[in-house]
Amino acid sequence: SRAFHDHGSNFKLLILCTTLSGGGVLAYGEAVGASEAAVPEKKKVVVLGTGWAGTSFLKNLNNPRYEVHVVSPRNYFAFTPLLPSVTCGTVEARSIVEPVRNIFRKKMVDIQFSEAECLKIDSANRKVYCRSNISNNEKEEFVVDYDYLIIAVGANVNTFNTPGVTENCHFLKEVEDAQKIRRTVIDCFERASLPSLSEEEKKRILHFAIVGGGPTGVEFAASLHDFVTEDLVNLYPGIKDLVKITLLEAGDHILSMFDKRITTFAEDKFRRDGIDVKTGSMVVKVSDKEISTKEMKNGGEITTIPYGMAVWSTGIGTRPFIKDFMSQIGQTNRRAIATDEWLRVESTSNVYALGDCATINQRKVMEDIAAIFKKADKDNSGTLTVKEFQEVLDDICERYPQVGLYLKSNQMHDLADLLKESKGDVEKESIELNIEELKTALSKVDSQMKFLPATAQVASQQGTYLAQCFNRMEECEKNPEGPIRFRGEGRHRFKPFRYKHLGQFAPLGGEQTAAQLPGDWVSIGHSSQWLWYSVYASKQVSWRTRALVVSDWTRRFIFGRDSSQI
Ligand code: FAD
Repeated sequence: SRAFHDHGSNFKLLILCTTLSGGGVLAYGEAVGASEAAVPEKKKVVVLGTGWAGTSFLKNLNNPRYEVHVVSPRNYFAFTPLLPSVTCGTVEARSIVEPVRNIFRKKMVDIQFSEAECLKIDSANRKVYCRSNISNNEKEEFVVDYDYLIIAVGANVNTFNTPGVTENCHFLKEVEDAQKIRRTVIDCFERASLPSLSEEEKKRILHFAIVGGGPTGVEFAASLHDFVTEDLVNLYPGIKDLVKITLLEAGDHILSMFDKRITTFAEDKFRRDGIDVKTGSMVVKVSDKEISTKEMKNGGEITTIPYGMAVWSTGIGTRPFIKDFMSQIGQTNRRAIATDEWLRVESTSNVYALGDCATINQRKVMEDIAAIFKKADKDNSGTLTVKEFQEVLDDICERYPQVGLYLKSNQMHDLADLLKESKGDVEKESIELNIEELKTALSKVDSQMKFLPATAQVASQQGTYLAQCFNRMEECEKNPEGPIRFRGEGRHRFKPFRYKHLGQFAPLGGEQTAAQLPGDWVSIGHSSQWLWYSVYASKQVSWRTRALVVSDWTRRFIFGRDSSQI
């Protein structure tokens, strides 16, 4: 097939030779050997995953000199930020997914797709081992060779090995999870309407517990509250007063990665709405009817809460085959694959990792941050003015939001103290700066931490960046290792990946959203909800899904949400 793509005229010769004799293809190879030498072989790129990172890479890859093989257990891309809306029927599941073949169809690049999951990566021999994921079919296994491997497999849920979670809790990670939650919510209402049940049992069934006060848990709690108060109370008037929603968070606050103003607003709004926000409550065990929590504020006292449905949303973990790959390449005890700033996996060649399964190497990040401070210290005096210091922090927050968060929280005492001294202290005009001390403080950052947040924004920017590097890589093909340093110059051929933080939203229900935009600009309320609608409509992967999502929102405004179980 390469011959077909590369030399249309030679294709006829190929057919002729194959027809005339069994050795035709070989004869063809010999006959056109000279012209083949002039056209370099297509490089085989294997992409694992069709989520935000993988799809963004594939959408932006334009160089026809690659032969791409995509392996993913699902043949569609899912717009995950709208999953919480699917749980309550605000948006239909089909409206937020786009078949990946639709995305590839229009591309000039040779792309093959296999609905399969990768089981093992053998980076020493440049092979990936896969197993088909097609239901009602024997799970066929196959091996794919690569010249370049792009790992974009995301992450799985993190249960922190809490007993009973896998068996009894719902997760909200995939489209199927959202559909299952939607059915279970309605099931709970139908079960609680059965005449044979006691009041206490009905109360238990209608108690919805959400574990994890991060953006996903909070958005789901808000969506569920809207669903109950706007739609279900009218359909189940007899049991409406028995419904309870509890949000359990181990830390001191919900939405702790957001600005304090947003955290406070969200906590107050939820309390006004009747959502029970229990902070300092760490879930230690889940049985089929009860959740046990350790109350940090009450000296670790264990309490049990009866529940009808529990949704677990406490962050992400590493996929087992990624753990195996990391141990193969000597990256044990990490949460994600460490890459350099060009997204190349450390201690491998031609392997790239992006999105939720990857993180940029800590040492490099620290050097980068130290360089930001050093650059701000223009006169080399070892001090920065408060304004300069604030600018440095903004710069860090933009490039590495997680580090910015660390600096702004109390977890890293040295730097947090430094920040407290400087921030809002109008009397003080400058702060002392010791780069070495700073480095020491930074080195305390937990090596498990991901320096960029696990968001669609990061994954998609990384996919675009890597595709742009690959589009230009042909120029560097003589260099077998791809994007490495210019010989002798010590300079990299491509600019390193730089994340551009465009802000984040936290929908809080009742047509109100909190938006934290770059430069710590915070907006909360109905106007931000409209901003949320516009941004999420514009970010849809195709016009088809955009039209579907907007029509779902319109349908919901006019007719309310659908409460049937299908
Ligand atoms: P994913 O998008 O998870 O894609 C991983 C891909 O790998 C999938 O196609 C999967 O099928 C495939 N895969 C899995 N295992 C294998 C295997 N063994 N072999 C091959 N392929 C495999 N981020 C935001 O920025 N804003 C938001 O509002 C937001 N809201 C969210 C709401 C929810 C409910 C969730 C769950 C996430 C949300 N996120 C949001 C986070 C965002 O979805 C992730 O950060 C993003 O999906 C990461 O992209 P990824 O490509 O790394 O992984």
